[in-house]
Amino acid sequence: MSDKIKKDQPTRIRLAKAIEKELNYKRFLHSLGVAETAAALAMRYDADVEKAEIAGILHDCAKYMDEKELIGICKKRGVAISDAEYDNPSLLHAKAGAILAQEKYDIDDPEILEAIRNHTTGKPEMSLLDKIIYIADYIEPGRDQAPNLSIVRSMAFEDIDRTLFKILEDILLYLQATGARIDPMTGKTYQYYREELDA
Ligand code: FE
Ligand code: FE
Repeated sequence: MSDKIKKDQPTRIRLAKAIEKELNYKRFLHSLGVAETAAALAMRYDADVEKAEIAGILHDCAKYMDEKELIGICKKRGVAISDAEYDNPSLLHAKAGAILAQEKYDIDDPEILEAIRNHTTGKPEMSLLDKIIYIADYIEPGRDQAPNLSIVRSMAFEDIDRTLFKILEDILLYLQATGARIDPMTGKTYQYYREELDA
């Protein structure tokens, strides 16, 4: 954990208060739900509970930005924008969120920033914290739409890699069924874990 976070005593309170002001109430509660679920998963898998909670609180911190703002901040910071992202700029809230977490919320921990950065699409070779945030975002208590939600929720506390793969699979099936454009990174992540797990 970076010195900054330690010294700055109630970081979780400072961040939760800031996020409450930036996001609508539903999304604020979602952020707390992800933080709480991520902390529980961190306890289960021996990850850093404090980092998991902070990444959870902040993961959607750029959600209030409109498409123009999302593209603008990413361009300004030299972040590469893919065709899929130009097509659907809301995907950029993850990359923009990592920028804001650092610049606006003073979080310098690279693991936290990375977990925020890849929480929408995942990526090959995710860290434990990346996986925790990705899964917590999908299963937090406020979620009620995803198929197999109760299965995935209990699986998450048994086998983190199988759970990650199951979520990727369900997301891809859903996107295919609705004809939505699939971000290439989601496909890449799915392929990587399919080989990794020999699924
Ligand atoms: Fe998000
Ligand atoms: Fe989220």
